Amino acid sequence: MRAVQYRKVGSAPEVVEVPMPEPGPGQVLLKVTAAGLCHSDLAVMGWPEEVFPYPLPLTLGHEGVGTVAALGRGVTGLAEGDAVAVYGPWGCGLCRKCAEGKENYCLRAAELGIMPPGLGSPGALAEFMVVDSPRHLVPLNGLDPAQAAPLTDAGLTPYHAILKSLPKLGPGSTAVVIGVGGLGHLAVQLLRALTPARVIALDVSQEKLELARTVGAHETLLSNAEASERVRELTGGVGAEAVLDFVGVEATLSVAAASVAVEGDVTIVGIGGGTLAVGFGGGLPFEVSACFPYWGSRTEFIDVVELARQGLVSSHVETFSLEEAPMAYERLHAGEINGRAVVLP
Ligand code: NAD
Ligand code: ZN
Ligand code: ZN
Repeated sequence: MRAVQYRKVGSAPEVVEVPMPEPGPGQVLLKVTAAGLCHSDLAVMGWPEEVFPYPLPLTLGHEGVGTVAALGRGVTGLAEGDAVAVYGPWGCGLCRKCAEGKENYCLRAAELGIMPPGLGSPGALAEFMVVDSPRHLVPLNGLDPAQAAPLTDAGLTPYHAILKSLPKLGPGSTAVVIGVGGLGHLAVQLLRALTPARVIALDVSQEKLELARTVGAHETLLSNAEASERVRELTGGVGAEAVLDFVGVEATLSVAAASVAVEGDVTIVGIGGGTLAVGFGGGLPFEVSACFPYWGSRTEFIDVVELARQGLVSSHVETFSLEEAPMAYERLHAGEINGRAVVLP
């Protein structure tokens, strides 16, 4: 079968022929119908050899959707042809975090060598993929595969991030979304679906701000040094109860710090490498909470799929063939993808 692989540190991803995988006991083989491209894949492909954590070659793609093609020994509850989306942050399934559905924070994954598809294990950018366990599969129930693929990460990660701030996002509150890309454009919709907050979206691209307005942002601002002053003006000097940063570089974190309200939340989702100083004298308003969440839980993923099925969020996608995936990554790198790039193998 064909797969998109990152084969050598520093080289571009390639479409190659690889052996057809077989599901082991307890595993499920999917015929991939859609796979999303995430900015994190670009980050992974930018890591130097000394710190590169995964075995190579690596089949990319951690946003997968497919139909069940074969069941490994002992798997029940699924049938060939079932359309499903893949929960990506696989854990051991047994520890305390996993028992709560928080496999993204599995206490034993590292020790057991369990890695998400596309981030260590063979991923979804291929004709077929093996999923570790049927518990990672959520039925699409009629949802379009291209629509569903981004939900697995670009939807789930902001959903998890927003839930943490929900108690602060009541009537009259404001949420700021920095970076309206794959994750950000779904974050705007999730904020609108889950909260009465006024949503202010920031990006460096007018095209992306246009998408932000289309999907429900009340206000859009160019992301620059003056942006926080505008946020203060728009909130009568108070600032935003929640700032979600989907870029995470020093410049956006400064905007976040200068935009957040007293007792507000700064949530750093983007892995741009910036850091925020928390503490007296750090310049933040009193009692600001800061966190850097990773992906989301299994139950949250089920909720996100349901929100999409109800039409409350929808992915803005640009689709590509498997052969076009390396080019789509180049376009993502150049900032030319509006919404999410999705490969239909
Ligand atoms: P993307 O490329 O689709 O979107 C990024 C957006 O940020 C683009 O619209 C871009 O124009 C905008 N942007 C760039 N610089 C900016 C700036 N200075 N100010 C405002 N906007 C700016 O990326 P994505 O796939 O949505 O991922 C977003 C980030 O989240 C990446 O860093 C990714 O690695 C990270 N990520 C984290 C998690 C997690 O679990 N924490 C999960 C998925 C992705
Ligand atoms: Zn991702
Ligand atoms: Zn676990």
